[in-house]
Amino acid sequence: MVDRLVNSEANNRRIALVESCFGASGQPLAVPGRVLVGEGVLTKLCRKKPKPRQVFLFNDILVYGNIVMSKKKYNQQHIIPLEEVQLSSLEDNGQYRNGWLIKTPTKSFAVYAATATEKTEWMAHINKCVQDLLHKSGKTAADTHAAVWVPDDAAATCQHCQRVQFNVIQRRHHCRKCGRVVCGQCSNKKILLPHQSSKPLRCCLACYDEVSAAGNATPQTDKNDLREMESGSDDDSDIDDAATSDDPNSAQPLQQTMMFYEGNNTADASLNNSSLLSGTGDAAQGSSPTAAPADASHTSSNAADPASSGQAD
Ligand SMILES: [Zn+2]
Ligand SMILES: [Zn+2]
Repeated sequence: MVDRLVNSEANNRRIALVESCFGASGQPLAVPGRVLVGEGVLTKLCRKKPKPRQVFLFNDILVYGNIVMSKKKYNQQHIIPLEEVQLSSLEDNGQYRNGWLIKTPTKSFAVYAATATEKTEWMAHINKCVQDLLHKSGKTAADTHAAVWVPDDAAATCQHCQRVQFNVIQRRHHCRKCGRVVCGQCSNKKILLPHQSSKPLRCCLACYDEVSAAGNATPQTDKNDLREMESGSDDDSDIDDAATSDDPNSAQPLQQTMMFYEGNNTADASLNNSSLLSGTGDAAQGSSPTAAPADASHTSSNAADPASSGQAD
């Protein structure tokens, strides 16, 4: 069980390493009771294109960031409380394989693993953490999730009017309620989506009409908002895209690695893939720096890289 790793030296060391890789750009991650369950590289489908992201699964949060230097430096840290997370598997579709949706009330997106086995491992471990959290807190799973944004590439024309062709003048906008790509004219209204923001958010006319019919529409906001919307300079861009679109490192081929630190977890038996799971566990390894080879044994590739083991400096 994950509980076995609480307060273990190995766990503390790994969390400290994650913190140091994010440096000043990240939040403190070491809190009592927190366990780093696993980590790896997943491809996140961002607004413009899929991008590799370093992902850390803790027993209470999912943390991901942009890879500046593999296993050494990350930035653009995002933290998602696992209590709000719901996963749903995606069918393979062309180049998009081994994917699933990570859905939360504020943001939902697709990620893709390198292999079907990694997908199974990730989903099982994330789901187990979510279930454990909900079980402990007695809460029920979130039932409202933000729409997954349709990628820009997937829409050459407005998905509402079907007429406007996107170009440098006719810019793409995303409806915050349904996630479709729509033109400016078809998204010149805002509605309140309390799970996503305390401010009214851009929506398409279809969603506006739907919400209006239910009597929940929020009137147009002030002139600044309108100007922003007209110039297309509102917060339409995903922060991931804004900060990293020209990062040359993101384009480099990455060695996909994934590892989960807990062993002897009965829930993992369902994975039917014992080669990826440690039978020894970290408790037995203690604080020995030689823990690296044992840790690396359940890395799916690149097993020899000592940097992946979370050794202290
Ligand atoms: Zn339109
Ligand atoms: Zn909509």
